[in-house]
Amino acid sequence: MKKTILTGLRPTGNLHLGHLFGAGQNYIKLQDDYNFYLEIADVQALTDNFNNPEKVRKNVTEITIDLLSIGLDPEKVNFFIQSKIPEIAELTVFYSNLVTVARLERNPTVKTEIAQKKELFGNDGESITYGFLGYPVSQAADITAFDGEVVPVGEDQLPLLEQCREIVRKFNSIYGETLKEPKAILSETKRVKGLDGNEKMGKSLGNAIFLNDNDETIKKKVMSAITDPAKIKKDDKANPDICMVYYYHKLVNKKENNEKICTECKKGARGCVQCKKELIEAMNEFLNPIRQKRKYYEDHPEIVKEILDNGTKKAKQRAEEQLKKVKKSMKIDY
Ligand code: ATP
Ligand code: MG
Repeated sequence: MKKTILTGLRPTGNLHLGHLFGAGQNYIKLQDDYNFYLEIADVQALTDNFNNPEKVRKNVTEITIDLLSIGLDPEKVNFFIQSKIPEIAELTVFYSNLVTVARLERNPTVKTEIAQKKELFGNDGESITYGFLGYPVSQAADITAFDGEVVPVGEDQLPLLEQCREIVRKFNSIYGETLKEPKAILSETKRVKGLDGNEKMGKSLGNAIFLNDNDETIKKKVMSAITDPAKIKKDDKANPDICMVYYYHKLVNKKENNEKICTECKKGARGCVQCKKELIEAMNEFLNPIRQKRKYYEDHPEIVKEILDNGTKKAKQRAEEQLKKVKKSMKIDY
C-alpha cells in the first residue's frame, strides 16, 4: 500500500521561487509514489490575515492554479480546502490540551514569524492572537487527520513538524496507540533566500519573485536585487557568493552559464547591469512554460473548481474516519 503524504500551503499570495525550489519540486517528484493530500490552508492563513478575508479567498484559487502550473497532476494529488474539513478544527481542540503555551512560544518558527511581523508592522506585530500562537496545533491536526506519514516542506517548517510529532507521542501515550508520527522531507534546496538577501523568501515578506510575475515586474525586481556592496565600478572584482543576482542565476540558469558568470565576476570581467540583464532573460525563459500552463487554467476556472471539489470530497471522507478513531481512543464516541 502507498504511504500517505500531507502537505499544505497558505493562500496568502501566489507561489514564488521559494515554494517551487523549497517544496514544489519535491511534490512533483513524490506525486507518483504516494497517496497525496495537498491542503490549501485557508484556516491557517486566517490566523494572521483574519482582517483580510478577500485576500485569503482570492488566493485559494490562485495558489491552486500555481500548483497545477508547476506540474502537479490532479489525478495523483488530492487538492482540498482546509475550512471545508471541520474535522480538522475538532482535532485541533482536542490536541490543544496536549501542548503548553510556553512550548508554543518557544517554537523557533513561531518566534521568527513574530519577530518578522514586528519588523513589518511595528508594535502592532507584537499583539499575537491566541489563534496565531496555536497554529502549530492546527497543523498537527492537518497532518494527522489523514494519517500523514511523510510531509514534504521547506526548512522553515521543521520546528512545526517536531511540534506535531510531540503532540502525536503525547496523544498516543495518554489515549493509546492511535496516531502516526510524521516525517518531514526536505528538498535539495532547503530554503530560498529573498531578493533583499533575507534568509527566507516569503509571500508575506515583500522579497519574493512570484511564478506569475510578468516580464516588467521581473525586470524591476531583478534590477533591485542586492549585489556585492564592495563592487562599485564595472571592472571591480566581486564576490558572487554574497550576490543575490548570482544566487538566482544558480537557481534558474544553465550550469555552464553559471560557471562563466562566477569566473568573470571574480575577475572583474563583468558588470552587474549586464549580469542582471542576463538573469532577467534566464528567469523569463524559466518561467515561460509555467506561465503558459497558468493561462490555460485561468481560461478554464470550472476545471479548477472541479479539482478542488473532488479533492475536498475525498479528503472529507478520510478525515471523518480518522476523527471517529480519535474519539474512540479518547472515549468520547458516544
Ligand atoms: P507566508 O509568508 O504567508 O507564511 P510562505 O511564503 O511562508 O507564506 P507557506 O504557504 O507558509 O509560504 O509555505 C508553503 C511551503 O513552502 C512550506 O513547505 C514552506 O516551507 C515552503 N517555503 C516557503 N517559502 C520558502 C523558501 N523561501 N524556501 C524554501 N521553502 C519555502
Ligand atoms: Mg509560511
